[in-house]
Amino acid sequence: MDVKFCPNCGKQLGENTSFCGECGHQIAVNAVQTIPEPVVTVQDIPAQSTSAPYQEIDHMVSGETVLVSPGKVVNKTVYILLALFLGGFGAHKFYTGRIGLGILYLVFFWTWIPGIIAAIEAIYVGIKKNSDAYGNITM
Ligand SMILES: [Zn+2]
Repeated sequence: MDVKFCPNCGKQLGENTSFCGECGHQIAVNAVQTIPEPVVTVQDIPAQSTSAPYQEIDHMVSGETVLVSPGKVVNKTVYILLALFLGGFGAHKFYTGRIGLGILYLVFFWTWIPGIIAAIEAIYVGIKKNSDAYGNITM
């Protein structure tokens, strides 16, 4: 819906008018038709930009950004048992795919701190996380 106006007198014109009915000014039809031309060059940009997010995902999977990996569906009971009994070794972290955190727990297991954190996590998940019909939770 592009409404054209006469550049000479400012009167509103019809869609395919090439002459102004008010003053007889010739409307530059070519000027209007050249506008779609930049669209052709814009079409190349999305084709290039779509490859960039895929590269980022590849980097996330292969790189050290495992800590911020999206939630994984795991069994709630298994998670709590792992956190309670093997939590000091990061077992529940390995179980949820948080390999980086799991290694961190393993390295510091002798301080008892990972075990304490794991116990808190087990209690937190037990209370706060509602499992679905299959007993699964998203971590
Ligand atoms: Zn006019």
